[in-house]
Amino acid sequence: MAAPFRIILRSSCKWTPKYSSIQPHAPKLRIPKRFLCTTHTRKEARAFPSIFIAIGLIGTAAYYVLAPTSHKTLNSDSFIPYTITSRQPISPTSAIFNISPHHHDPSLPYLLPSSKEWKYPLWSVEFKQPEVQIARHYTPLPPTDGENTKDGTLSFYIRAIGGGEMSTYLNRLGVGRDVYLRGPHKGFDVLKRLGEQKNVVFLAGGTGVVPGMQVAKAVLERDATTSVELLWAVRKREELQQCRQGASTKPWWNFWSTAAPAELTAEVEEPSAMGKQLARMKARYGERLIIRVAVDEERTRFTERDIKDALANGGRALPSPGCQLHDQCLHVHASEFEDPDTKCQCSPADRPGKNLLMVSGPDGFIAYYAGDKKWIGGTLTQGTVGGVAGVLQRKNPVLANDWLVLKL
Ligand SMILES: Cc1cc2nc3c(=O)[nH]c(=O)nc-3n(C[C@H](O)[C@H](O)[C@H](O)COP(=O)(O)OP(=O)(O)OC[C@H]3O[C@@H](n4cnc5c(N)ncnc54)[C@H](O)[C@@H]3O)c2cc1C
Repeated sequence: MAAPFRIILRSSCKWTPKYSSIQPHAPKLRIPKRFLCTTHTRKEARAFPSIFIAIGLIGTAAYYVLAPTSHKTLNSDSFIPYTITSRQPISPTSAIFNISPHHHDPSLPYLLPSSKEWKYPLWSVEFKQPEVQIARHYTPLPPTDGENTKDGTLSFYIRAIGGGEMSTYLNRLGVGRDVYLRGPHKGFDVLKRLGEQKNVVFLAGGTGVVPGMQVAKAVLERDATTSVELLWAVRKREELQQCRQGASTKPWWNFWSTAAPAELTAEVEEPSAMGKQLARMKARYGERLIIRVAVDEERTRFTERDIKDALANGGRALPSPGCQLHDQCLHVHASEFEDPDTKCQCSPADRPGKNLLMVSGPDGFIAYYAGDKKWIGGTLTQGTVGGVAGVLQRKNPVLANDWLVLKL
């Protein structure tokens, strides 16, 4: 297929196999009344819409053929090439990829003007799979101290899902291969939602930890009074630490016992590439960033009690009825891809803000801790708060006012 006519036919909505069509919206044809009047024969009346459609199609085709390919750098309309510059394997199914754009962009769309800082607290890009024409979202890892953000290099923690089209394709690509990106796509504006409050609890499953790291960086850099608790659930320890040869995870006689999730310090023993990134963040933010890790294969997990304890430190917030940023009810139908015009409707005198409980990961993980997301009219929406968070809210209604629950 000629390049200008390529259309990405399917796009993922996170962690799910469901696809939403991203074909351009065709404008509705409005046929002037005079063409519909009874003086025309039925044959002529049928011919007019066909002529309009034909003109429309020819016009669209001409536009794509003749229009110069203006975008060479990251933009939200078309995919542009990056090269994989390094790949750090973490486990047989996951790795950190570093990629560099083919063309240097002096004003990267995700950086604040004349700054090396990211513009959005939470954002992602789409990668496309050129062979089967699908696109999926991936979340850039926040840059570590001293890392050059201005050269356009981005890093991603990607897991290959069994049977997954895009993730297995990416996992097979080595250094020097090209990938194609579109974006940036802005997620929830967490800083505006946090407002005058100080606490974020981020519950992440697997690669869902990356948005947690983005949020932690943005919130902890905002001011010195904020704090973040990042609760990371992984299937295997190798995501965090390289497994020592011969090291057994648990003796057989202790098989059914459950230990509490461990707290991570800045000195992680034999860290994986992800373990190193988290340890660096811990070293930078100290007590303001608590990171706990639960490992499925070691039978540790985050319980209702763990979540309750994490929520115990939230400050009191005023109710914010009718505010798109702070009213939980208005999030039920909201997409995680934020409309840039979403504004706070609270009175500034109320010093608006909510503590944030955020949950990110595979569908089942989100449903267990915060309730299902819901598809409405082709958009994946937040749905109501359920799961462990819903139980805690019912037991202690104050939590429902002080903490806003967001699902990613
Ligand atoms: C905003 C956003 C950011 C994202 N960031 C990242 C990221 O940084 N790193 C990353 O690896 N992924 C990320 N994802 C998920 C990613 O977009 C894909 O959904 C994922 O890689 C699977 O795509 P696929 O084409 O391989 O699988 P598909 O072909 O879409 O699905 C194949 C099968 O795998 C199942 N499946 C899909 N996802 C998961 C999962 N996570 N766990 C278990 N089963 C699953 C599906 O139900 C299906 O049965 C993000 C998604 C969104 C919406």
